[in-house]
Amino acid sequence: MSEDCIFCKIAKKEIPTEFVYEDENVVSFRDLNPQAPVHVLVIPKEHYSSIREVTDKEVFAHLMYGVQKTAEKLNLKEFRTVINTGAAAGQTVFHIHVHVLAGRDLLWPPG
Ligand code: AMP
Repeated sequence: MSEDCIFCKIAKKEIPTEFVYEDENVVSFRDLNPQAPVHVLVIPKEHYSSIREVTDKEVFAHLMYGVQKTAEKLNLKEFRTVINTGAAAGQTVFHIHVHVLAGRDLLWPPG
């Protein structure tokens, strides 16, 4: 747990949040400021600031499993996953998270 980390507080249920999916390693929940009709964040319960700080490769498996289970729960057949690493790449919350986006045209690159 990192003390002032909002996602740690969500994972620890210190901030009441409805989870889309939860297991012993990860939780997922709706993004506060959705960028698509479906926009969910999957996070590990353990704190790592970003991909760069992850020291246990199992965390990556847990995160991807969380993405799969989250998509299953929401009955998503097609979706995009995004991980921002570092402020210049758009990371604003420094607890690793995978964005799961669906429900609109998500082709990349756009146009
Ligand atoms: P990133 O820009 O990749 O770091 O993504 C952080 C995401 O967290 C943004 O899409 C925010 O809208 C979202 N966010 C920030 N605080 C909360 C919160 N308390 N609950 C849900 N989503 C949040």
